[in-house]
Amino acid sequence: MDYLDELKKIVGVEGYVDDAAALEPYLREWRGRYTSDVPIVLLPSSTRQVAQLVSVCAARSIGVIPQGGNTGLVGGSVVHGGRAQVLVNLRRLDRIREVSADGEFMIAEAGCVLAALQEAAEEVDRVLGLSLSAEGSCRIGGNLATDAGGLNVLRYGTARHQVLGLEVVLADGRIWNGLRTLRKNTAGYDLRGLFVGSEGTLGIITAAALRLYPRPSDLATGLVALDSPAEAIPLLGSLRSRLADDLVAYELVTDATLELVLRNIPDTRTPFDDRYKAYALVENASHNPGGARSALEQALEAALGGGLIRDAVIATSGEQRRALWRLRHSISDAQTREGASIKHDISLPIERIPAFMDDCESRIRAMLPDVRFIVFGHVGDGSLHYNLTVPENMDSESFRAKEPELSRMVFDRVHAYGGSFSAEHGVGLLRRPELRRYVDGVEIDLMRRIKQALDPHGILNPGKVL
Ligand SMILES: Cc1cc2nc3c(=O)[nH]c(=O)nc-3n(C[C@H](O)[C@H](O)[C@H](O)COP(=O)(O)OP(=O)(O)OC[C@H]3O[C@@H](n4cnc5c(N)ncnc54)[C@H](O)[C@@H]3O)c2cc1C
Repeated sequence: MDYLDELKKIVGVEGYVDDAAALEPYLREWRGRYTSDVPIVLLPSSTRQVAQLVSVCAARSIGVIPQGGNTGLVGGSVVHGGRAQVLVNLRRLDRIREVSADGEFMIAEAGCVLAALQEAAEEVDRVLGLSLSAEGSCRIGGNLATDAGGLNVLRYGTARHQVLGLEVVLADGRIWNGLRTLRKNTAGYDLRGLFVGSEGTLGIITAAALRLYPRPSDLATGLVALDSPAEAIPLLGSLRSRLADDLVAYELVTDATLELVLRNIPDTRTPFDDRYKAYALVENASHNPGGARSALEQALEAALGGGLIRDAVIATSGEQRRALWRLRHSISDAQTREGASIKHDISLPIERIPAFMDDCESRIRAMLPDVRFIVFGHVGDGSLHYNLTVPENMDSESFRAKEPELSRMVFDRVHAYGGSFSAEHGVGLLRRPELRRYVDGVEIDLMRRIKQALDPHGILNPGKVL
């Protein structure tokens, strides 16, 4: 039997898509850099079906590309290269198997949309510590496979820190059931840690036991005006001293970035009468009703007294809060409307961010004086979206042609300051050259050995990461 017929038989008629129009969202990568050229996408509905699919592929040495919400930004969930491969989307594994408020965990299948899990946690007065702009589309399996970061890493850590246990289909089709909910377990190696962030190259995550936290009863959201992006770092230190872990989000938005949003996104406006060089979007949580706002006000007054900030507003309603967050969430959309951008998802030691920004900007300006710096991101955890947008007097094609030299400069400076070329999007296809350039040979060797041990025939997401 033809292998596609064999795979179709496993998932049944509901379990695949082969119509051109229906296939499109699975085949096109979010930013349009890559497109998969396959006639069918498989949609298994159970862990058992995933295991059967992988067994057939292993026997025939066919590559398996796992896919979640397809919101990844480095080409990780596309079919690439000449060998026979199948795209396996996990969206139909979308059951929440268990939620325990007392145990503070939930067990969810890989295809659950992140926002649905946040809602399920809230229903039992708990919170899932992962939130990102793509949360209405991305799926928890994809979040774990990329070790996603997002808006609340400052408080809860990355996706990795939310995982108590995993269920994984291995490269030979066996199922590893590591769905434990223990906080402590020193019985052997940390296998779940291996699969998180491995971008589908070591195993297919089919379910996860996730940590939940007490849900704050009160949130206060503010926008703070700053003299320069560099000021965001001492302000962060000052707020952390006063608010500690109650500070759940801390996002930097430079004025050039805000300008892009105001120009391109309808019904957005700044809450300030004047314009400043940069802004910090901050969110404080409290378990005492009314406590979040007063604590944030006091912390900002102290910062104002210390000359760290120029002005600040705190939202007084849910509508105002949403309007502030909309400024932040609209940035990618605004950038797309503005023309070509060269994007870098970087992280740095927090205290070195100001020096990096000065140094890198002056070097890039020497190469392309009118390039627009669209810098924003989760600066509270040391990550920045360090994006370069096409100069107003340049066409997109000429700008794109400069990507290799501009990105090389950015990544070289990131490396020089002890940072990472990939803060939260992973390596996928796009950042493989950087992995080879900037990651130590011993580390690469260990990664290759792990890959060889878990996937000796290289069928899982071939050509990605390594
Ligand atoms: C508007 C927007 C905002 C974003 N903001 C953030 C952000 O703040 N922080 C952040 O970290 N990322 C962000 N991203 C990137 C993206 O949303 C994340 O990488 C997300 O975790 C990907 O999840 P997904 O379900 O879409 O995975 P996909 O894109 O489908 O896959 C991503 C990778 O994971 C692998 N994979 C998927 N599912 C599985 C599985 N079950 N088992 C094994 N491997 C699997 C794929 O093969 C691929 O390598 C953003 C993206 C967009 C479009």
